[in-house]
Amino acid sequence: MTKRKKQELKHVCQRCGKKKTELDSAYIRGMDRKKIINGVLSRYVINEDKQIIKIDVGRVEKEIPESHKPIDKYFKFLCTKCHTEYDAKK
Ligand SMILES: [Zn+2]
Repeated sequence: MTKRKKQELKHVCQRCGKKKTELDSAYIRGMDRKKIINGVLSRYVINEDKQIIKIDVGRVEKEIPESHKPIDKYFKFLCTKCHTEYDAKK
């Protein structure tokens, strides 16, 4: 999903501006995988007290990546060094 964006950036880190062979996709502060997945799953709660959900796995598998769009709102594309530093400040 992030491949195209990384190519658009020509593999240049959005923080230090250095060109790398591979960029990481870093969740922007305030966004994280768990939060996004919980948001999707919360649509399927059938019993709030017991925290029971009933999902259609195929549908949820599509909804989770859809919930990461627009990609720029959720990710920064950073080199490994910048990614580590960025996450440390979260
Ligand atoms: Zn960097």
